[in-house]
Amino acid sequence: MLSSGKKAKFDNARSAFAATARRRGGHVRDALRALLPQQCVLCATACGSALMCVRCEATMPWLGAACPRCALASPGDALCGRCLATPPPYARTIAAWRYAFPADRLLQALKYEGRLALADPLGDALGAAVVARGDLPDVLVAMPLSRVRQRSRGFNHAHEIARRVACRACVPLVGGLARVRDAPPQAGLALRERTRNVRDAFAATRSFAGLRVGLVDDVMTTGSTLGAAARALLAADAGSVDALVVARTPPPGRKSGSEIHLRMA
Ligand SMILES: [Zn+2]
Ligand SMILES: [Zn+2]
Repeated sequence: MLSSGKKAKFDNARSAFAATARRRGGHVRDALRALLPQQCVLCATACGSALMCVRCEATMPWLGAACPRCALASPGDALCGRCLATPPPYARTIAAWRYAFPADRLLQALKYEGRLALADPLGDALGAAVVARGDLPDVLVAMPLSRVRQRSRGFNHAHEIARRVACRACVPLVGGLARVRDAPPQAGLALRERTRNVRDAFAATRSFAGLRVGLVDDVMTTGSTLGAAARALLAADAGSVDALVVARTPPPGRKSGSEIHLRMA
């Protein structure tokens, strides 16, 4: 057990290494990680060069059989009735996890507490899901924040995740999508209100002619925001848009959660 003084020095050294690595790119960072002892982001167990220990990884709320278009649970991965009746603008949705404990805690810690290091395990999980689904997009685009929101938060969590996905899936991450209007918060709104709320909130600033675009965000709830952003990309001539999210919110009333002790390192 390290004393708190020694631990602070050790943490500082780790942070310095991590900062250097971030500047020099993902490969250098991975090489440094292999040399430094890592702790699981959930239980703080030493886990070599991995970011999450095998035991915690096994307890994550993995998605399971789901509709290929909207990623809601669907037996045999069949297209669901809602997507058959009203196809969303995105061609596929790929998610690593359901939005349930402890995935929700990790995503909240990244977004609201600025724990940027968590973008790596989250991006790894999504990257693995994207590669496993196959038929990779040509480019990745991160869900943008408005200029005001980005300035106040200091970072875009979707961009941090997308950077890692790009590295894992070997697909370039590009710009070209802007959030031109900050809609009021979506929470508490019904689907129709959410859709109206984000209409015209996005605009492409370049052509995506013929490109299959992977649009990266942290969570898909109703799909209204991702749908609005996908429409803007399609209006800029994207060949297709896939929604790539770390976690998919289950329909209301279907919660899950394996209560493991959460001690985020
Ligand atoms: Zn663990
Ligand atoms: Zn569906």
